Amino acid sequence: MKLKVAFVSSEVVPFSKTGGLADVAGALPIELRKLGVEIIVFTPFYKSIEEGDFLYARIDMGDNLKISVGGREIDYRLYASLLRGDRVTIYFIDAPEYFHRKEFYTQDDDEAERFVFFQKALIDVLQRMQWKGDIIHINDWQTSLIPYYLKTIYAWDKLFENTKTVFTIHNIGYQGTFPAEKLPVTEILPEHFYPTGPAEFYGKINFMKLGILFSDKINTVSETYAKEILTPAFSGGLDGVLKQREKDLSGILNGVDYSQWSPQKDTLIPVNYSSQKIARKVENKKALASETGLKFSENTPVMAIISRLVSQKGFDLFLDLFDFFIEADAQLVVLGSGDEKYESFFRKLAFYSEGNIKVHIGYNNKLAHLIEAGADIFLMPSLYEPCGLNQIYSLKYGTVPVVRKTGGLADTVKDWDETPDEKGNGFVFGKFDSREFANAIERALNYYKDKRIWKKIQRNGMREDFSWRKSAKKYLELYNKALGK
Ligand code: ADP
Repeated sequence: MKLKVAFVSSEVVPFSKTGGLADVAGALPIELRKLGVEIIVFTPFYKSIEEGDFLYARIDMGDNLKISVGGREIDYRLYASLLRGDRVTIYFIDAPEYFHRKEFYTQDDDEAERFVFFQKALIDVLQRMQWKGDIIHINDWQTSLIPYYLKTIYAWDKLFENTKTVFTIHNIGYQGTFPAEKLPVTEILPEHFYPTGPAEFYGKINFMKLGILFSDKINTVSETYAKEILTPAFSGGLDGVLKQREKDLSGILNGVDYSQWSPQKDTLIPVNYSSQKIARKVENKKALASETGLKFSENTPVMAIISRLVSQKGFDLFLDLFDFFIEADAQLVVLGSGDEKYESFFRKLAFYSEGNIKVHIGYNNKLAHLIEAGADIFLMPSLYEPCGLNQIYSLKYGTVPVVRKTGGLADTVKDWDETPDEKGNGFVFGKFDSREFANAIERALNYYKDKRIWKKIQRNGMREDFSWRKSAKKYLELYNKALGK
């Protein structure tokens, strides 16, 4: 018997994306299907999807599709498409009143209603389909009330009596907290909302907390992050709750899409290369120089950053290192956008660098690929990092990562000096301290001068395999554990 899974996510590549969650939702279901899982995906029908270049069809579910939210009846429709031409069906729940907004996530007064609606509509659709599945796989706070609903307001429905829930936390920094006045629209029972109760968090309603308490299994996107979130420094206040569920909590590293992100196959870079033909990488270094205006110099290392410029990514460490970067015997390319203080720091750095530092504020996928292919060293000193993608891409492109030992960075990058038998693939520092960061960069710059060692470090990284297939097998195991198999 095939395992039947419904995968629910508030963003899915290529239809909608603000972060790593979308990449997971667009890739993991395809790999699970290849492993024999019967899987369907659900997501909101945002305005940008309706207006985008996608093929989709209306699904007839009978008349009168309505969901009540806070006493109001909201009409909705169901559409469907396929994930990346594969045979995984993705269903879109369409309610323009809630999902035709400028952004996927808002600060609007009815943000709670929007995702209460989405989750109730999902359950309604499953009921109409008479979907008697094994697993509902939910992701982040936008879907984390589903297990609670199934065990409370929908507990009457025998359809779900054998269905288990798996909750993946992609970033515990976003929990879905709302003022207590929203209780009626969430349909959270008053008996669950009292100080320190399952739905309560410092006087507010907390969707993620209910997800943690009511799901059958919980996981995060790396093993290290799964341990870190059990501690106050990383948990956003939920470590106590997670401790209660510790035996059901695990970490599964995200995979990456090597059809898009590998130097052999990348169609967005000028010259393809591989671990056998690393010498060709320099052609991309030339192209990067001409694209960004850096002066090309084969033996000058190019360091790179591609990131949201936010404190999570460790940018406070840069603020103390102005002189270090100005004086470094290396060039630097920065691609990103985010907080004004970091944007202006890098602009200033570029201004005073006499051409050795180039900064592109904004989002540019093509340039991101060129940077991965053309740079020598990738800097990612995150304060916390649930999984992280760019260090994994960097490994594949022979762009040696310098990272802080946290979350997914700790699980993917092995320090050259600390790993025996020349097995290291990058440079790692521990303490969140700018001096330590600078030391790690200096170690990288020193080894860069030794061609033999550098090539070894690059090759070690390029040979790593963080494909989705591996991760999907672990999710399949997790589903089976949830089912008690
Ligand atoms: P997060 O999801 O926390 O932002 P990840 O490392 O998991 O961090 O994923 C970031 C993704 O977004 C990567 O695919 C990266 O290439 C991309 N990215 C981030 N900033 C930019 C940018 N300014 N331009 C192009 N791509 C970017």
